[in-house]
Order: sequence, then C-alpha cells, then structure tokens
Amino acid sequence: MLDKVLIANRGEIALRVLRACREMGIKTVAAHSSADSTLKHVLLADETVCIGPAASTDSYLNMPAVIAAAEVTDAVAIHPGYGFLPENAGFAERVQETGFIFIGPEPDTIRLMGDKVSAIRAMRQAGVPCVPGSDGPLSDDNEENARCAREIGYPVIVKAAGGGGGRGMRVVHSEAALFNAITITKAEALAAFGNEQVYMERYLEQPRHVEFQVLADHHGNAIHLGERDCSMQRRNQKVVEEAPAPGISQETRERMGERCARACREIGYRGAGTFEFLYQDGEFFFIEMNTRVQVEHPVTEMITGIDIVKAQLRVAAGEPLDLRQEDIRWSGHAIECRINAEDPKSFMPSPGTVNLWHAPGGPGIRVDSHLYSGYAVPPYYDSLIAKVIAHGDSRAAAIARMGTALSEIVVEGIRTNVPLHQEICQHAAFKAGGTDINYLEKRLGLK
Ligand code: ADP
Repeated sequence: MLDKVLIANRGEIALRVLRACREMGIKTVAAHSSADSTLKHVLLADETVCIGPAASTDSYLNMPAVIAAAEVTDAVAIHPGYGFLPENAGFAERVQETGFIFIGPEPDTIRLMGDKVSAIRAMRQAGVPCVPGSDGPLSDDNEENARCAREIGYPVIVKAAGGGGGRGMRVVHSEAALFNAITITKAEALAAFGNEQVYMERYLEQPRHVEFQVLADHHGNAIHLGERDCSMQRRNQKVVEEAPAPGISQETRERMGERCARACREIGYRGAGTFEFLYQDGEFFFIEMNTRVQVEHPVTEMITGIDIVKAQLRVAAGEPLDLRQEDIRWSGHAIECRINAEDPKSFMPSPGTVNLWHAPGGPGIRVDSHLYSGYAVPPYYDSLIAKVIAHGDSRAAAIARMGTALSEIVVEGIRTNVPLHQEICQHAAFKAGGTDINYLEKRLGLK
C-alpha cells in the first residue's frame, strides 16, 4: 500500500481524502495555501506544507510548488482531488516524471478525454451513444458549418473542445446567428482554455443529466457503480444530485453501465471516472468524461456501500480491483445537497467567519464538510462548504430525511443556500422526480 500521500487540494474533498488515507493506515501531507492554514484537514494531517499565497494560481495550481512539497516530505503519491489539477495532463506527466504516483489515469488518457472532440470520437468508436454533431472541430468554412448545422437540425449548441465548468458554450437557434456564435465561442475558448477549437452538436431542449460512475485498475478490470441524476443545475453547475436516477430500470443501468465499463477497458482507463450523459426521451447521449473523483460521489457510495476514494488509493498502489461487477448491489436511494456560502437569492458569495456550525445527523445522514465553529471561509475559492447526503429505503424516504437534516443545520455568521435546498425538497415536481436540467433555473425565474 502507499506509504504517504500528498493531498493537493482543499476544503471538503481534502478532508475526504485524508479520512480515507487514515482508515487505510496511509500517512498524509496537506499541501495548502497561506490562506488555508486553519483548514480542518490541514489541522489533522500528519504533515503540512504551505505551497504559496492565497491565489490558487500561485498555490493549488502551482505545479512546481505542489511537486516540491511531495519531494520535501517524501510522499509517494499525489491525490489531486477535484477542481484544481486532476484533469491537467501536463501535471500528471510531471508528477510521474519526478517519480511520484499520480492518483488518477495515465496522462494520455486525461489528454484524450480532456479534449471533448477526441473524447467523443473515442466514445463513438467504443460504441457509447453520443449527441448527433459535427464529428470533429469546426473549420472556418461558413458554408460547411451551415450545412453541418442544417443536418443536425436547429437549435444547435457550439461548444469549446477544451471547455469545462459549464463555460464555453452557446446555443444557436438559426443560421442567421450561427457564424457570429462560432466566432465568439472560438475567441472565448482561446482566452479561457487556450484552445480555440469548437464543435457543434444538437441542442437537446429538455434533457436530464445522468452520469455513470466507473472504477478501473491496472490489470484490465473495469466495473460500473450505476448512475446518478444531476439535473438540478444552475448555470450548468450541479446543485442537488441523487442516485439512482429516477425511472432508470435495472436493465438500462446494466446495459449502459457495461458500455461505460467496456469503454474504460478499450481506452485503458484507470481509477475512478464518470461518463456524463444527457438523457432525453429514453435515450442517452454522451457529453463528456470526468477523469477524477466527483463532488457527488457520495450518493453512489451510500447506495452501493463502496468507498470510491479508497478504491482510487488501492488502484494507484497497483492493486487489482477487489470487486467484480456481479458483487455490486444497489440499495435504497441517496440525495446530496451542495451547501454553498452564498446568498440564497442573489447567489453572491458570502465568505466570513462561521461563529456557530452544527451539522445534522441521525440514521442515513452523512455530512462531508470541513466547517467547524470559528472557521473563517476565505473569499478566494469555491463556495462549497458542506455536502449533506441523505439515504433512505426509497426516494421519498431520502427526501424526508433530507428535509429533516436541512432543518437541523446551523451555520451562523455567513449566508448559505440552505433555504434554496429546503424549497427544492418541498416542491412537488422535485418530489415526483425526473425533472430536466432547465427546471431549477425556470423555478428561479432565470429562464
Ligand atoms: P462542462 O465540461 O463545462 O461541464 P458539459 O459538456 O458537461 O460541459 O455540459 C455541461 C452542461 O451544459 C450539461 O450538463 C447541460 O446542462 C448543458 N449542455 C451541454 N451540451 C448540451 C446539449 N447538446 N444540449 C443541451 N444542453 C447541453
């Protein structure tokens, strides 16, 4: 097993990784910015290294500083968490070249799946259903692009090959707006992602976001842990996630899950990963793969009893998966609410000192959070401060538990989106299940 892991992240996921390491007897190093010396996992880690000032470009995204921290502490592996460096193929390469284990897939796999154009090509080849689209990047030929859009049928969506975080996309309803949209998206993509390639696909008007969790090892084994529904989104960012996805049959789960597992075997995937699909009228359309652990992984853990982060660590150590597909059992239903430090109405970030923090509890409730009373949420990073996960025998039972949990939470000193989650949990359409990705924004009057 790994002797010592450097955690190159912050907040709840850094704590999540630290806990998994502790359970497995792995020593931990917290690599943190100067603004994060009071973070919970930094206080708990075996060793800590300050890797730079508050700005993430100077610390959590500072590759030489992260690698140097591993060198001075004799860590053997680096866990990048989600958000900062896990999907940076160049970083994974440098980690390996310096002699450390990168906890994630091979750099070439990250590169293949990080570029959405090459990812879609690879998935088409592996028999994974994709959104009808421009099979490749768009050229500068207006006539050709217009023909392509007509073949796909309007509305179409122009997307950046290197896009992420819900940015770098533009919906186009008619040919009159097409060329302008391509030009603007290209310019934005170049500025934001350093890659001006864009592609086009059919814009699905009422899809749900359904994604499949996979685990794969160095020995050619790959399994799936079923799906999650993450349709409750605002600005393409997930707000509530659940597993299983309402209305997906066991037969569909097995068929789609097996396709994803097979695609993993074909591309030589390793570690934890997620295949994201849009799901409309009973059909799945692949949109991208995330080659890392995801924020919403706990809902899958709650219904399968499998620890995804521990599986990542074991695979990184070179061990074969100790699970076979037929061992996977799904039990009950789990829902996750992402609690953010933000105004529940304006969504403006609300950093500051948390004078009092009280986490909910009781049967079936899990809270992944780095908060403690007296902790000051810094203004420099993502506003996620806690994930509340509720598990129940049925979806209705999980929602009822979530409602109780939300009513127990106390976060004094800063504003949070707990009231928004309470409203969502009480709404009839959410209770019925299967709402599409436009639902929340329509409810909020944003669409
Ligand atoms: P990112 O990498 O930025 O997360 P994705 O390709 O995963 O980008 O898309 C993010 C979100 O954008 C999706 O969950 C969905 O809400 C919306 N979206 C992307 N592609 C389409 C499409 N073809 N039709 C409709 N909505 C889409």
